[in-house]
Amino acid sequence: MLIVMKPQASEDDIRRVCEKIVSLGYRAHPMPGAQRTAIGITGNRGPLEPEEFESLPGVAEAIRVSKAYKLVSREVKGEDSLIHVGPPGGQVTIGGKELALIAGPCAVESREQARTAAAEVRAAGARLFRGGAFKPRTSPYSFQGMGEEGLQILAEIRREFGLLIVTETIDPENCDLVEKYADVLQVGARNMQNFSLLKRVGRSRLPVLLKRGMSATLDEFLMAAEYILSEGNYNVILCERGVRTFADHSRNTLDLSVIPAVKRLSHLPILVDPSHGTGKRDNVIPLARAAVAVGADGLIVEVHPDPDRAVSDSYQSLYPAQFEALVEQVKAIGGVLGRTIGQ
Ligand code: PEP
Ligand code: MN
Repeated sequence: MLIVMKPQASEDDIRRVCEKIVSLGYRAHPMPGAQRTAIGITGNRGPLEPEEFESLPGVAEAIRVSKAYKLVSREVKGEDSLIHVGPPGGQVTIGGKELALIAGPCAVESREQARTAAAEVRAAGARLFRGGAFKPRTSPYSFQGMGEEGLQILAEIRREFGLLIVTETIDPENCDLVEKYADVLQVGARNMQNFSLLKRVGRSRLPVLLKRGMSATLDEFLMAAEYILSEGNYNVILCERGVRTFADHSRNTLDLSVIPAVKRLSHLPILVDPSHGTGKRDNVIPLARAAVAVGADGLIVEVHPDPDRAVSDSYQSLYPAQFEALVEQVKAIGGVLGRTIGQ
């Protein structure tokens, strides 16, 4: 059920509706919009009676939400969500006119490697830095990340370069630590249906970058996001990173057709990761261009100062000069669509 408030409804009217929802044992999710506030209701097992809410002051109408996912859906919020990242003043907004550029190595390997990467991507125009301190690896014998030491290096990068930090959290316990250092919590493809992690990041004050699982349908992807919003964290950024198909010419098949589909169904922003989406350095720039052309709100790209020596995802990591070229090209494509890249 969705309660749509009248444009002139007061704060008190909104509060009274929320109190009524809570008194019935459900959860209220007020979603302010440019014209009016809508209040989503979750936690009810069966359908609710619209009349119960329509008589309250300030309520325009109460409507049943037809989709299984509610809070992420455009039925609940018609306008695009803008996600503000970073402390007030140093904020980057994801989902608006400006394209978000997140770049950096797959993993933080050393202070020097991470700092060199940060200087390069910052100079090329990225405002957000990526780098895993905790890596979910297919093999238990592969490099698992530097852990807290890696997070400390990321915090230094934030101070030194003014870059905002996007880094992965791999389980609910680990989240307590990652939260102390990150500006955005990344939930990786392998964890898209780790429901206890989704609930945990749903209680975080930080925005969440949720990557699509490698075999997840669009419904499953949006339901995973719904887990996060249902806990009260509405700052979710979706990310398409390629799915498994029979195609064996690339690591994954980057499903760019999901971008307009997400835009139709959800108000959440969606980024594209052409690095994991292709697995091959030479394919990253063409697919980055295509991602922006198809309407993505930005890109997350792996860049390494010395890709041939990268400890993880070496083949898909760009050389810094390639990242510079990528930025120039997506700037041109974005310009056609009225989108910009800030410096
Ligand atoms: C990553 O961003 O380095 C990563 C592990 O990505 P994914 O979860 O999409 O595989
Ligand atoms: Mn990687």
